[in-house]
Amino acid sequence: MSNTPKQYQHRNWYTLHRQQASEYARKFRLEHPEIVHARKKRYDAINQDKTKKYRLMYLSLWPERRKEQKRISKENLRRSIFNIIGSKCAKCGFADIRALQFDHINGDGYLDRKSGLVEKSLVIYKNNPELAKKKLQTLCANCNQIKKHMKNETGRH
Ligand SMILES: [Zn+2]
Repeated sequence: MSNTPKQYQHRNWYTLHRQQASEYARKFRLEHPEIVHARKKRYDAINQDKTKKYRLMYLSLWPERRKEQKRISKENLRRSIFNIIGSKCAKCGFADIRALQFDHINGDGYLDRKSGLVEKSLVIYKNNPELAKKKLQTLCANCNQIKKHMKNETGRH
């Protein structure tokens, strides 16, 4: 298909002003993340097979990146839940996020573990802050371990 004069003009302008155009695009992305997100979503919906293919290709080419992505998304999920329920141990006030854990206030965490949905349930809590506040509290590893001993809970968080 040959280009219409207008398309040609546009392309020509773009070639001459590449830097300006990419700067403008970058600014636009920063100022309108919701529009960019909606466009990407629409593109992905139309080109489902294509994006899936590329995604799988990408992941199989760089398995370590996949691992890294998984680690980052897990960490982000953890952080966003701490943002909801607080990033300080409810018992002793310890505040180093590396040794903080989620504790099911009523000790019903085994329900989530039993259904094998630990990570999925965290996503549910993230999307339902009220539920998360009702069900979860932040405990440091020590206080969590002590609580487990006292309540004789089984399994691990
Ligand atoms: Zn503690």
